[in-house]
Amino acid sequence: MNFKEFRVEDRLYLKCSMFNEKKLRHCYTTRFGGVSKGSIVGLNLGFNTNDSKENILKNYKIMSRDIGFNFDNIIMTNQNHSTNALIVTKKDAGKGLSKEGKFEGIDALLTNEKNLPIGMIMADCVPIILYDKAKSIIGICHAGWRGTSRMIVSITIKKMKEVFRSNSNDVLACIGPAICEKCFKTNEETANKFFSEVVEYVGNNEYSVDLPRCNILQILLEGIPNQNIFQIKECTKCFSDKYFSFRREGENAGRMGAFIELI
Ligand SMILES: [Zn+2]
Repeated sequence: MNFKEFRVEDRLYLKCSMFNEKKLRHCYTTRFGGVSKGSIVGLNLGFNTNDSKENILKNYKIMSRDIGFNFDNIIMTNQNHSTNALIVTKKDAGKGLSKEGKFEGIDALLTNEKNLPIGMIMADCVPIILYDKAKSIIGICHAGWRGTSRMIVSITIKKMKEVFRSNSNDVLACIGPAICEKCFKTNEETANKFFSEVVEYVGNNEYSVDLPRCNILQILLEGIPNQNIFQIKECTKCFSDKYFSFRREGENAGRMGAFIELI
């Protein structure tokens, strides 16, 4: 299992080889390419940034064309580090991007319908793409430190099991580029919110937390076999030319996206 880089002109995307390309379209975006300028130069997909709506929409359209998504159908939400996983259907197509009426406070999306790309944006937070290969269910999670401590990926997988009767053995999970344990340092109070296995004291009252690993542990606890889980081990803060990073660039950091669609 591995991941591959997919280039279209000056754009660069990552794809996980675990996902069957005959049945799925998916990608993790990087900052390469795109029309945004200045401090957020690149393919910025975040609306809550110091970037024009026109540029951001152009970037979404470029990405859609490169990967093969129908831009008009992509569903995006207002993410707020919640534990809300929402199931979407055809009637929601385009919501939050080409159509008005964004879903508020949703940090994971699930669907079993085709031609309905679902996406989440992030800069340092952990993007997780889920796929039930037997029942053809797709899911996507945004797990920052808050979402990780609140177990958003566990909650999303539980919902797959409850609503769609997913079996753990059929679920594949890919953890995309996110902040590494060396770059995520925090205080004791925050560090205590995570499994002790992923926390390390680094001195000066600071603790490092391996957020991607913490999500992997949650996925394992849901019974997903280890061989069904893949992590793209690239840090969004360490790889400054390739990714936007909240911890490196602050509030106005651009955003990358993770997307998946059943075809
Ligand atoms: Zn790092």
